Amino acid sequence: MSADGPVLRFAPSPNGRLHLGHAYSALLNADLAARMGGLCRLRIEDIDPLRSKPDFVDGIVADLGWLGLTYPEPVRRQSRFMAAYRSARDGLIGRGLAYPCFCSRREIRALAAAGGDTPRDPDGGPLYPGRCRRRDPAEVADRLARGDPHTWRLDMAAALGCAGSPLGYRAFTTGGERWVTADPARWGDAVIARRDVPTSYHLAVVHDDAAEGITHVVRGRDLEAATDLHVLLQVLLGLPVPRYRHHRLLRDGSGEKLAKSRGSRALADLRRDGVLPEEIRARLGFA
Ligand code: GLU
Repeated sequence: MSADGPVLRFAPSPNGRLHLGHAYSALLNADLAARMGGLCRLRIEDIDPLRSKPDFVDGIVADLGWLGLTYPEPVRRQSRFMAAYRSARDGLIGRGLAYPCFCSRREIRALAAAGGDTPRDPDGGPLYPGRCRRRDPAEVADRLARGDPHTWRLDMAAALGCAGSPLGYRAFTTGGERWVTADPARWGDAVIARRDVPTSYHLAVVHDDAAEGITHVVRGRDLEAATDLHVLLQVLLGLPVPRYRHHRLLRDGSGEKLAKSRGSRALADLRRDGVLPEEIRARLGFA
């Protein structure tokens, strides 16, 4: 294990209990780090003040320990770094690359419905039609001064103009690397800071991957499209672009992706039922 070698990370959000899909991702990260002579860090992505719960953090630590995974200290907790995310956000605002958006989710859905055949982002959400980008600056200043709730959105066209091209990243496998061209425009004017906290997942994750010196990001294919946006943010913020690998997602018996929201069985339940960590490792291909 070398401080100058590859650095990977497993970065769960403590808004539920870990399931086999998380175990796969955590074991794969640890396995790759060991093979590459690097280390794997644990990061708790708890920016969501409502959904993140201390019990889930304890559960994550207990489950990973049970699987035999240990991580260097200190374990980063994103909720402690809001000031850093705010300053990254404010930097983008100051350069005219982000604007406040006062639209509620419901309004955005209605705007999209009124627009007929709405373009969608890679997650299936309607692309933001840009209403607040076109607002009169005096009205915006007024509403900000009044404290109207708002998110901050990236002005995608301005951001792309500033970043220049070509945007992309190196995707790595055990066999080698290939260049992947990134197409962040498919996210439209993405939210970089939520109403309740001065960041979004996207901004916090690129900030922290750089802050923690992460050289290789290994995460599920469900985040593959988000990487395009992350590369854009990295270039805008002057951060290094790590190498990426997007791993397969585990499916349940009906072919659905395992997810907390669908009540996939938690590792804690398997443990309680007497399943051994070696069995989990073997089942996931890490025997
Ligand atoms: N915190 C994210 C999740 O639990 C993962 C973020 C990442 O690996 O980039 O889905």
